Amino acid sequence: MSFLISDRFLIPVSEGYAVDRGWTAATDFKPVAVTWHWSATRTLDECSRLLGGPEPLRKGIASAHFGIGRSYREGIDRYVSVDDRSWHAGKNQTVRWDGGPCLEVSDKGHRTSIGIETIHLGYARPGIQAESDWARADSPNGRWQLRIQPWTEEQIQMMIELGREIVAHWPHIGPNAHHGHHDLCPDYKVDPVGFPFARVLRGIYNDPEIPDVWTPYWTARQRRTALNGLGFGLGPGGLWDKSCDLALRSFQAAEGLVVNGRWSTFVSRRVHQLLN
Ligand SMILES: [Zn+2]
Repeated sequence: MSFLISDRFLIPVSEGYAVDRGWTAATDFKPVAVTWHWSATRTLDECSRLLGGPEPLRKGIASAHFGIGRSYREGIDRYVSVDDRSWHAGKNQTVRWDGGPCLEVSDKGHRTSIGIETIHLGYARPGIQAESDWARADSPNGRWQLRIQPWTEEQIQMMIELGREIVAHWPHIGPNAHHGHHDLCPDYKVDPVGFPFARVLRGIYNDPEIPDVWTPYWTARQRRTALNGLGFGLGPGGLWDKSCDLALRSFQAAEGLVVNGRWSTFVSRRVHQLLN
């Protein structure tokens, strides 16, 4: 391994900071999941000055447990120990870690999951130009076609190594306990749409059989095809129209999922199980 996990941006665990000591208020007194994010920054240093250290720009507002740079040279910054809580999800949260409704404060992301920022620009938008290798993936509501910056090979290897450390510390966190910020806060966040979940999880758990329930459903066209495979007569096409939205909502209702018309990791997992 040729990168370091640095503690130079550790956040003081004290009042006024976006951290809480221990997991005593969380389910089973421990984190039950990992929430992946993109930072929408160019560098790890930029992310770390926003979230980490004794004087973070977002002091008392938001943090994360780790930031993963784009290269081994950047490495990983630890902001909060995995034995403590970081405030990385919870604002405008409607879904909890297992896909159920987020009803209690104790269900909130920052009470239940480890938060990892990956240094990543996000999607192309004014000021951020897509390059030819940027992926196409649509927003959870199917209405925005996004161009997504790829994560780098070194970054993916660091995600895998860090994930292994987390799972060694909290062995009850299995492959199904990983999700993205947008899965918890589908009307508030789109990060990290297009994230290489299957590669990262296969690496962390050293299991090539972990199904890829993400890339086959990145676009509205793929989602329509999948719903048609489950008996919804939506017809072909790449647009996500009202009939698609209604079909997804009726699928969610039938499967006991939160009914919100948002294509989440939880929806993907269930669709994939039924189609395969
Ligand atoms: Zn996020």
